[in-house]
Order: sequence, then structure tokens, then C-alpha cells
Amino acid sequence: MLRQDGTVRRNPVGALMENLDDVPFADRQMVLLDNDGRRYMGQTCMIMISRGCPYLCTYCFNADYNKLYKSVSPNKIRWRSVGNVIDEMKQIKEEGDVDYISIIDDTFNLLPKEYVLEFCERYKNEISIPFMAQFRANLFDEELIVALKDAGMISINCAIECGDEDVSRDILKRGMTNERLLEAFHVFYDCGVKSYAQNIVGLPVEDPVEDALKTIRLNIKAKVTYAHFTLLLPFPKTPIETYCKKHGYLVDVNTPVETQRVSALGQNQTMAPSVFTKTTLRYKSEKDNRQINNLHKFASICVRYPFLLPLVKQLIKLPPNIIFQYVYFLWQGYNRTVVLYGTKISFSLIFAGIKQISGYLRKHA
Ligand code: SF4
Repeated sequence: MLRQDGTVRRNPVGALMENLDDVPFADRQMVLLDNDGRRYMGQTCMIMISRGCPYLCTYCFNADYNKLYKSVSPNKIRWRSVGNVIDEMKQIKEEGDVDYISIIDDTFNLLPKEYVLEFCERYKNEISIPFMAQFRANLFDEELIVALKDAGMISINCAIECGDEDVSRDILKRGMTNERLLEAFHVFYDCGVKSYAQNIVGLPVEDPVEDALKTIRLNIKAKVTYAHFTLLLPFPKTPIETYCKKHGYLVDVNTPVETQRVSALGQNQTMAPSVFTKTTLRYKSEKDNRQINNLHKFASICVRYPFLLPLVKQLIKLPPNIIFQYVYFLWQGYNRTVVLYGTKISFSLIFAGIKQISGYLRKHA
């Protein structure tokens, strides 16, 4: 894309790379060391095996991305050979200082079964570092979960998103039933694999609070290890953004992605919206907006301790405040380090967490 003679000229998109083994390994030496001389945050090293996702979730870029490349690349889902992946993992292992490998493919279990079984065999014998991967519940296969667990998988990242099946089907186009979700999560639980469930609250529905409560209840039933809740932030040009505008949930359609505020020092600051702080949607009453912003902060705690739900239903009536925000982030940090990956809790960990939170809130609160 370039500007020429006052107009923007757009080149057509090029074809997607077919053979991912042609991509050189990432140069991880470029990742800066931290104060303790370690390279990776939480010593977790990320890696991708495949590219692409064929699903049509309305809040995700993939549906439009696939349309964009439709004419030039019919084959959107591509993956590296097992040998190529294992070679890169060996290099990561030799470079040292990695406690976990995080396979961040959009949907790891799109890979063919024979591929995953071969990967498990080689991973167990040649790498043997605890790892995690991202799944779609409708594709889960118990035999593969058992094989992956045996190969060293300690945690699965799998989205629940919404507990209301109608909303999940009609608005989010998730393409799976609650029954199937429960079946998958119960297998993760029975196999002893920890689960990290992604969820969205603040959806464009008549009663967003009841909708969020249904999602909390489904997570409780699913026995997830850690339920992660984010607020819906409709990205530009996604189907969910179109839906929100059409139904009046995004009132000012010209609102820029970033908003201005005047800081305590009197300077203009650019504040980016965030899935962690407050909703960008406008509900039919101010009360709904307040309760959604607050419920978002306590939803995950309610999944772990359902007996707190009656208390939380009272707390969400209060004005949103910085204490609720800190509770949300500290709980998230505790689960993502100590609960999921067994990091030892310490004063320095808590201090680093608080510093990170206050830095984030300066930009997004
Ligand atoms: S399954 Fe995940 S990656 Fe695929 S379209 Fe849905 S949200 Fe996007």
C-alpha cells in the first residue's frame, strides 16, 4: 500500500506461504534478558506449528482474513513437518533457561491425528519439557489428550466464551454446544491436565449481566482450573463490530479506537481501550454498564469459589473502583503463574506484579 499523487494505492495480497518449513527459526537471542539474566517471561517460550483457522467466530480476525486470501490461497491451514518443529524445539532446549513451551497455534487440534501422535512420540523422547497448547472443544479427541499428557502437556487453553447457547450460536457463531464443551473439559479434568478457559463478558445482549452469570455457571460445571474473563472489545470491521453498531451498542460509530483524557499533570494522554478495564459498549442503562464492569472483575473468583456469588451480586452494584481492578489483576497473575505453572509465590513476584499492574492502568484505566 502506498500514497501516490494524493491517493492511496493498494497492491493485491500475495499468496500465503505453502511450505512453512521454509520459514527460518526465530532468533530468540534477540529477546532481551531480564534483571535476573533470564530471557523469557515466566521462562515460557512460545512456538507455532501451524497457521490459519477455518472457523467463523465473529469477534476474531480469521473469518475476514480467510476471505482476503480466498482468491490467491485456497489452502489457509498449513503446518510444519514434525521434524522441523522438533529441530526448533531442540535449539530452544540447547539455549537453556526454558521451563515451559507454549504452543500458540490458534487451534492445535486442527492438526491431523497421525501428526499429533508422531509429534507426541518424538516430543517425549527428544524434548521432554512441560508444554501447553490451545484447543477447540468441538474437535477434542480423548485418545489425543491422553497421548499429549503422556508427552508432557500440563495445560490446555480452550475457549468457553459464553454460557448462553443461543448467544454463542447466533451472535458469536462459535459452532459448538455446551454439552460438547462440558464433555471436553471433563476429559481434561479426568486426565489431570490443567485447563485455562477463555471467556467474554459484556456481550451485545438484552441482559448482559444474566448472560455473564450463565457463563460463570458453565465454567463452574466444566470444572476449569482457571477461568479467564475479558470484556468484549469489538475490533474494527469484524462481524461483531458491525452487529454492535447495527443494534445500538456502539453509539458513536466514529469514536476513534483511542480516546483522549487530560492527565493529572494537565497533559493530553492517549488512552487505549482495554479488555481488562471497562466495556466500550453502551447498554440500555448505566446500571448494566456498571454491573458488567464490576462483574468482570470478580467472575473468575466466582468460578473458583461459587459460594461467593451472592456476595459478588451485591458488590457489583457499587461504583467501579481501583480496588476491584487490582483484585482482578492480582487474581489473574496468581493463577497464570502459581496455579497453572507452579511458580513459587514470593515477595519479589508480588512486587513485580503490582508494578506491572500500575504501569498498565496508567495507560488504560
Ligand atoms: S476458533 Fe479461535 S482462532 Fe478460530 S476463528 Fe474462532 S476465535 Fe478465531
